Amino acid sequence: MASPTITRFAPSPTGFIHVGNLRTALMNYMIARKAGGTFILRIDDTDPERSKEEYVDGIKEDLTWLGLHWDRVERQSERLDQYHAAADELREKGRFYEAFETPVELDLKRKKQLNMGKPPVYDRAALALSDADKDALRQERGAGVWRFKLDQQRIEWNDGILGDISIDAASVSDPVLIRGDGQILYTLASVVDDTEMGVTHVVRGSDHVTNTATQIQIMQALGNGGVPNFAHHSLLTGPQGEALSKRLGTLALRDLRAQGIQPFALLSLMARLGSSDPVELRTDMAALIDGFDINHFGAAPTKFDLQDLFPMTGRYLQTLSLESVADAIADLGVPTDKAEAFWAVTRENIETLNDLKVWWAMFHNGADPVIEDGDEAFIAQAMAMLPDTPFDGDTWGNWTKAVKEATGRKGRGLFRPLRLALTGQEHGPEMAGVMPLLQVIKARG
Ligand code: GLU
Repeated sequence: MASPTITRFAPSPTGFIHVGNLRTALMNYMIARKAGGTFILRIDDTDPERSKEEYVDGIKEDLTWLGLHWDRVERQSERLDQYHAAADELREKGRFYEAFETPVELDLKRKKQLNMGKPPVYDRAALALSDADKDALRQERGAGVWRFKLDQQRIEWNDGILGDISIDAASVSDPVLIRGDGQILYTLASVVDDTEMGVTHVVRGSDHVTNTATQIQIMQALGNGGVPNFAHHSLLTGPQGEALSKRLGTLALRDLRAQGIQPFALLSLMARLGSSDPVELRTDMAALIDGFDINHFGAAPTKFDLQDLFPMTGRYLQTLSLESVADAIADLGVPTDKAEAFWAVTRENIETLNDLKVWWAMFHNGADPVIEDGDEAFIAQAMAMLPDTPFDGDTWGNWTKAVKEATGRKGRGLFRPLRLALTGQEHGPEMAGVMPLLQVIKARG
């Protein structure tokens, strides 16, 4: 029997998650759910200085907002013993060595290599140190870093998105897995976790491709079983193809939430963007998961435009019943007996729920009239014929009929200036529905 599918989303709690992370989370989530497997939220918090509890809470809050529920949480900071055990094993197997170069020395080596047209790969000078050399260096500089000794062969895997990958290990530096201050680095921790937790599929950004190569060798060196299926999704760019990395800070999920973006608009876009499947609005998770296939995603950078999320949010909101938006409407101060009429009139004329505020302000406080040149007398005459508020569902029909008879105007020449005078806008909801909500008519002068 095939082993059950287990995936994980492994953010470092050094910031809030953004649209780029969301893609990773969503792909791993959907693979697990589609297979009826397990989705683990793994908090990569081995860096005690940069990891913050505030971000751990924030990440959980954001995933919960989206409905991406995890089956369990793992924290790397609670698993240090396992990582040290793995480090011991690598030492015993002769695959781990201590190196003492300072960052400045390493930088110098890299520059020399580049000057000679060579790839800047760590030269393994530390392998030649005798025990006495190491003792002396430890005395002088403190503990060294621990590097994994790569097997200098080609590392190959079939990537779920990139296809067949082959990386020459000789072109990669032996990765540092433990820092001089004893801090376990992500590369080792992740390998130990993926192996011990039985992770079957790892989807992450293509910035991790080289990591994957080295992690495959570390997994093989530890020899605790197979290697997961890897897939590396392309990185997001802005709408013009510009790098998004600097702007990701402003594309945090909580910022999108504050702008009124709805979870299903975001999920629908991110679950298909960059794949050969069309982006369509979905309003339930099962439909999103159903049509998802990681193999349909392409390797090319994926353009992301924040602006796409607004019309999608608008379309999502149109599908909502009054009941689901009743709280938002009540919060604006809309009286309960007007809520239904208010929602019926506004639902197709908003992009986010934040827009409701503007509509309510207009109905409640009146809109600044727009009166085009030459229409002044017509509007004055029409306003004189307008009954007192409150209006009802027949007001618009009755009034425009009377105005038509009195002025001889009809069609667009009749309706357009009246709408502009009452709402200040050229387009909008059906005026028959708007009238009962209008409480103040500024155009009355
Ligand atoms: N904490 C790592 C990151 O956020 C996880 C990468 C991985 O999925 O292995 O980049």
